Amino acid sequence: MKYYDKLILELSKPGRTGYSLRQNDSCTTDALASLPEWGKRKTDVCLPEVSEVDVVRHYTNLSQMNFGVDTGFYPLGSCTMKYNPKINEEIAAMPEFQSIHPLQDKNTLEGIRAIFDEMDHALAAITGMSHFTFLPCAGAHGELTGLMIMRSYHMSRGDLKRTKVIVPDSAHGTNPASAAVCGLEIVEVKSGENGLVDVESLRPLLDDTVAGIMMTNPNTLGLFEREIKQIAELVHEAGGLLYYDGANMNPLLGVVRPGDMGFDIMHLNLHKTFSTPHGGGGPGSGPVGVCEKLVPFLGVRVSGYNGNFPVILRAYTYILMLGRQHIKQAGRLATLNANYIKESLRDAYKLPIDSVCKHEFVFDGLKEREGENHDELPTTLDVAKRLLDYGFHAPTIYFPLLFHQSLMIEPTETESLETLDDFIRVMHLIADEAHTQPELLRTAPHNCPISRPDETTAARNPKLRYE
Ligand SMILES: *Cc1c(COP(=O)(O)O)cnc(C)c1O
Repeated sequence: MKYYDKLILELSKPGRTGYSLRQNDSCTTDALASLPEWGKRKTDVCLPEVSEVDVVRHYTNLSQMNFGVDTGFYPLGSCTMKYNPKINEEIAAMPEFQSIHPLQDKNTLEGIRAIFDEMDHALAAITGMSHFTFLPCAGAHGELTGLMIMRSYHMSRGDLKRTKVIVPDSAHGTNPASAAVCGLEIVEVKSGENGLVDVESLRPLLDDTVAGIMMTNPNTLGLFEREIKQIAELVHEAGGLLYYDGANMNPLLGVVRPGDMGFDIMHLNLHKTFSTPHGGGGPGSGPVGVCEKLVPFLGVRVSGYNGNFPVILRAYTYILMLGRQHIKQAGRLATLNANYIKESLRDAYKLPIDSVCKHEFVFDGLKEREGENHDELPTTLDVAKRLLDYGFHAPTIYFPLLFHQSLMIEPTETESLETLDDFIRVMHLIADEAHTQPELLRTAPHNCPISRPDETTAARNPKLRYE
């Protein structure tokens, strides 16, 4: 029997117990009798009757149905699923941090204040910004905060015409979404053949109605926007500001600073670049940094108290553990690892843009062999599902939207050469299967508890209750 085949309630046998409560004097029939009638339960509570070993096995098995960075390689492009060092958890779990309250006497919070100040200082040094706010609780939340700062800046100068924000077609979906939530009009700028923002397409979009541009660099294809200096000049000349989506700051750590590229406002995803665990929608932290002239606008209140402190604490630990010398190594290794995989697999997968990548890159599905039609090969979904059979988490699929069969791979710096080689071996194996036994891919995964759910129904109408 697989323990996850049944719900814990279905394992129940009358009279079986895993835990017994101490007979408590205050819980006598007398005490019960003194409870008001309306407060008493009319029916028995539906609790499973199971032994301790059954409970332990049930939940341990359930926990293993999930895939995590602690169980295997997780090359999910754009999401940066790097290993989260256990010391981060140890620090975040310290009772000195766990039991503080944001409303306690300020004089007792000086140590916490010092941590925020040091983080502010460290992130400013890493990014070239002047100061950060730690209130935003996710990347998208940071984008919204940054755009609110952008609007406040223009409004403070009485410049009310600036209601448009330029977003490249390769942008992460949260960029246009945040701009829309902020009440800004989105203007798309096209990428050129090389996957980079095309300066000539940008030029005509710039006028006195533009509040700013949102850019990701390296962009979502993992490519460095080489024209960034010129783009910054053009946008600034037109009176706009540059917003930097720093969710994927990983490859630039200690190498290049957005502030030096000309960006005015940015957010970081502490839950990606700075190793704090994330997944399934949280927890996160998206601090927003600004250049000197925007510091007066940094005070927007977008969440209660001080933001997501435990996440900030993990990132703080990560930064201190690496230190100034070693943080550079993280970005460089992430870049080296991504290029190593890209070059090792380009014989079997279609590489739409041939260029040195940063921390991630995108294949456009499988590469066709002599006499084959690309459209008839197993799809990116099939490859991703088959990877699960081999014990790897799938890369990001069908994003970015620039290609039909996007397969976006990001190894991060925390993987060994052996792990990368094993992944490359399996990806080659899957490519061979695709040409010789395509059905094996189309019906994959074969070893997972669930194979191919209807993902839309699962997301829109989840069944979460036991009936
Ligand atoms: C992940 C990501 C975001 C959004 O971050 P969340 O914390 O999920 O809101 C924004 N931009 C890019 C480039 C990202 O990779």
